[in-house]
Amino acid sequence: MSDGTGGGTAPAECPPQTGLRAAPEPESTEAPASEESPQSAVLFRANCPHCRSSFELDAAALRLAVGGSSRTTFYSFTCPSCDEAVRKPAGERIVELLTGGGVPTMRLTGR
Ligand SMILES: [Zn+2]
Repeated sequence: MSDGTGGGTAPAECPPQTGLRAAPEPESTEAPASEESPQSAVLFRANCPHCRSSFELDAAALRLAVGGSSRTTFYSFTCPSCDEAVRKPAGERIVELLTGGGVPTMRLTGR
């Protein structure tokens, strides 16, 4: 006698198949190129304590030094009128303004 059982029905070892598939992630749509403000157009007003002349400087003419505290944070430039080196303290707003305008920033890392 041969019975049909014993191998006819497979034990439920098969992993339950879910209908979920690894859907390919939709590629992020390319962001439209927004107009970036040209850095060369940014001018900063400054005045010289030596010759007391006021002028406008572009980002390349300024240097920003950011120290650990507000006392050691300043910006410097060379007066185009009298050629004197000018150094002025820079507050947070000025730092943001200068860095946002593309002024080269130098970090002073002191202990
Ligand atoms: Zn000057």
